Amino acid sequence: MPAPITAELVAREPIADGIAQLSFALREPPRLQFKAGQFVSIAIPSAGPDSEAVPRRSYSIASQSDAGELLRFIIRVIPEGKASEFLMKLPLGAVVNMTGPHGFFVLDERHPGDVVFGATGTGFAAVMPMLGELARRRESGHESPRSLVLWGARQESDLFARAEIEALVARAGSELRVFLTAPGAGWRGERGRITPALLDRLPELTAPTFYLVGNGAMISELKRELIARGVNRRAQIRTEAFFD
Ligand SMILES: Cc1cc2nc3c(=O)[nH]c(=O)nc-3n(C[C@H](O)[C@H](O)[C@H](O)COP(=O)(O)OP(=O)(O)OC[C@H]3O[C@@H](n4cnc5c(N)ncnc54)[C@H](O)[C@@H]3O)c2cc1C
Repeated sequence: MPAPITAELVAREPIADGIAQLSFALREPPRLQFKAGQFVSIAIPSAGPDSEAVPRRSYSIASQSDAGELLRFIIRVIPEGKASEFLMKLPLGAVVNMTGPHGFFVLDERHPGDVVFGATGTGFAAVMPMLGELARRRESGHESPRSLVLWGARQESDLFARAEIEALVARAGSELRVFLTAPGAGWRGERGRITPALLDRLPELTAPTFYLVGNGAMISELKRELIARGVNRRAQIRTEAFFD
């Protein structure tokens, strides 16, 4: 059940171009029980005269779901964004109010076939604990679906936590494909958006379950195209749009 949470900012560091990682130590409750893929809603107090209605912003929990004492968030810093400014200026040691955990973008208990993640930008924050959960299921013999992870970004400098993500992908026995829409000259990886790349892979997938997260336009387009190709929206597609 979502509940009020207070948490103290204990670390903040840039991890990619315009992307920061923030860690909050839980004060009350001392530990958050959450499922991989869920998010919290953070209160963003405003200093202005009309600051009575405190705005809130949602952030996916990027830390592993078996380590709920320290919540980690991976945040795209939006220029002049209310929450971005608040979180980037917040002094270490400051305590913020949140509620959570929220959301139904979580791994199904069991999958009838393949698992496919499609994430853009900081949407990958939600995929990281989901990969960790898949890895733990695999290591405990609970289930071991074939899984594919597609990550889309603009350029190489937008990619974060590469070593950690590759280690998670390996533990989950997954396959990671990274696509850049505006790569620099040195990029030797794949180019373009994840939508056509994922649709190309569709014929070789068996009873797939899709987890789509990040840019809302990507999610709407992929959902529409998957449904047009016979994928069942309710049974096979899970989504979390960070913005329209
Ligand atoms: C369920 C959920 C989980 C989310 N998890 C995360 C997360 O883990 N990390 C994260 O960075 N954001 C996440 N977001 C987005 C976040 O809630 C805020 O919208 C974002 O931080 C911008 O807030 P702001 O007040 O700084 O800027 P605002 O002024 O409110 O936003 C300005 C514009 O920035 C764009 N925008 C918002 N978020 C992003 C983004 N992530 N990447 C690129 N453009 C964006 C949108 O077009 C938005 O209209 C999540 C949103 C939802 C609904």
